[in-house]
Amino acid sequence: MKRRNIQISVKWKLTLLYTFFMTLLVCIIMAILLSLSNETILASVQAELKENVENAFEDIEWDDGHLDIDNDIREVEQGIYLSVYNEDSEIIYGKIPSGFMDIPPMLEGQIRTMKDSGTTWYVYDSSSDIEEYGKVYVRGIVSVTRAEQSITVFLRFTLILLPLMVLLTAFVGYRFTKRVMRPVHAAARTAKEIYESGDLSKRIPQGRGNDELHKLIQCLNQMLEQLEKTFAREKQFTSDVSHELRTPVAVILSQCENVLDDEEVSEKFKEDVEVIRRKAAAMSRMISQLLMLSRADQNRLELNRELVDLSMMAEIVAEEQQEIADKKKITIYTKIEPELTGYADETMLIRLFVNLLGNAVRYGVEGGMIEFALWREGDRIFGSVKDNGIGISKEALPHIWERFYQEDATRNRSDESGAGLGLPMVKWIVEMHGGEIRAQSEKGKGSAFYFWIPQKK
Ligand code: ADP
Repeated sequence: MKRRNIQISVKWKLTLLYTFFMTLLVCIIMAILLSLSNETILASVQAELKENVENAFEDIEWDDGHLDIDNDIREVEQGIYLSVYNEDSEIIYGKIPSGFMDIPPMLEGQIRTMKDSGTTWYVYDSSSDIEEYGKVYVRGIVSVTRAEQSITVFLRFTLILLPLMVLLTAFVGYRFTKRVMRPVHAAARTAKEIYESGDLSKRIPQGRGNDELHKLIQCLNQMLEQLEKTFAREKQFTSDVSHELRTPVAVILSQCENVLDDEEVSEKFKEDVEVIRRKAAAMSRMISQLLMLSRADQNRLELNRELVDLSMMAEIVAEEQQEIADKKKITIYTKIEPELTGYADETMLIRLFVNLLGNAVRYGVEGGMIEFALWREGDRIFGSVKDNGIGISKEALPHIWERFYQEDATRNRSDESGAGLGLPMVKWIVEMHGGEIRAQSEKGKGSAFYFWIPQKK
């Protein structure tokens, strides 16, 4: 049988655990108390019965030729009935409980347990010689059932009290654990927020107190601080390096072009220099993308949104890309709605179109086709780039937006190929405009990228 994984929070686990032990403890205490009290109460009833019987002789005396018995004997104290008998066991005074029918013969100095009409009784007889009169017996009768009833009341009371105590313990315990676990919840919440927003500047609320959990939170916050600094340094480093590399790569490129334009240079040499030029151009593209992304990370890259003619921009990019696509005999079909205008950053949008169409060409097949569409719906501009190229595998698809991710880093190492920075840039551009982008693809069949951006600011 498959075991179901039941998720119980630590808060509930702790509450259940000590409620269980508390219940166990209370049950044990109650059981001990109950067994003790049963014996003690019955023993004290017997002792009292004996005492009352023995004391009764003080109320009996021979006075002026007759037996003088005090009225006290007729009073039923603590349920004890007293009755006085003569030498022949004939009753001469006192009370017998109404349910006590069977009158047993006298048996001195011994407590007897007798059952009569559903009630259990303790009977105790004692005798004494009264001067000038002779022997008198005093019999004491008390109902055991009555004494036991008081124990039953106690039992009921504990039975009601026990669940109440357990409920109270559970409630107080839950509140207490919830309070203790508060820092843990705060830490989990902040960790989730950091994960979702990627904002390392967030800190876990410290709260009051100096226990282990508060110390842990202090350590986590210090760790976050350290991480934030390290990431900031790393971003700065990437930004500085790409910035510094731009100039030398630009010099290499322009020197290559000079050599290529020089008529005195041999063709063989020009071929070698052309290889260097292509590699340098790819490097230059990579550096500028890296620089942009690192600036974006540092929030140093801002959009310059103005009213632009999106249709015209799209047509121009499509035409430029067609020239590159011609080498692979790929045709780009456009379905661009005319006179589409919107508030956008022109440079960024060109980069967006170039990257998407560039990828469609790069990962397209010989003689393939690409469809580039742009249209308006309400106050949104929608776009799509579809190709019938090599496609992306299901496993790779969720990762294509990650930096430096390439489905197969060795499969397309042409000079035009990038370094896995194109799509992260595309995503950043769309999201900075307040839009969304998603990809659909099937290995061997082709890919489609859909995006939208708001038309207005
Ligand atoms: P690259 O510079 O490697 O093209 P991108 O970030 O633009 O980097 O794309 C990341 C990866 O996504 C690519 O390496 C490629 O595997 C895949 N990819 C992107 N666009 C397409 C497409 N149109 N067809 C097939 N695969 C694509």
